[in-house]
Amino acid sequence: DLRIARIASAIRVIPNFPKPGIMFQDITTLLLDTKAFKDTIDLFVERYKDKNISVVAGIEARGFIFGPPIALAIGAKFVPMRKPNKLPGEVISEEYSLEYGTDKMEMHVGAVEAGERALVIDDLIATGGTLSAAIRLLERVGVEVVECACVIELPELKGRERLGDKPLFVLVNAA
Ligand code: IMP
Repeated sequence: DLRIARIASAIRVIPNFPKPGIMFQDITTLLLDTKAFKDTIDLFVERYKDKNISVVAGIEARGFIFGPPIALAIGAKFVPMRKPNKLPGEVISEEYSLEYGTDKMEMHVGAVEAGERALVIDDLIATGGTLSAAIRLLERVGVEVVECACVIELPELKGRERLGDKPLFVLVNAA
């Protein structure tokens, strides 16, 4: 697909951010390229429009950029999966491990119902810890996670393996 090359080249790589040794994949430049941004959303919509998905769960923060346009186009609701203590209502939360220590992801109680079919979206998968926490959170309340989708995968970190048999769809592989 010719669209993929344009998307890949619209992503900027910033060395040593947020700390030395990290090559940060910056999707803000993709958002500036109106064609590449639209192609990104279109590719996801083409894949998910006829899959009976009722929930798009977007992971804070960049899953909040890509998730809502996909949700609107496929006729699904959008549910934010947030960092701790951000959501005002009653939440359920799931802990996950980071390089140093742990973090937590939260979702509003009542945002989804058992039996719903969800797509989980984020900008990037590295170790897979974040996506796997989102999957656990949704599955705990009886939601079927149909697939996870990201714009970028860092395949060297083998995050895909951490998702077990859960399918992962990505547009671009980065080094
Ligand atoms: P993981 O849990 O190790 O897979 O890390 C994925 C999470 O970290 C996602 O929410 C990403 O937004 C964020 N992340 C890690 N590396 C990058 C990067 O290079 N660019 C943008 N986001 C990143």
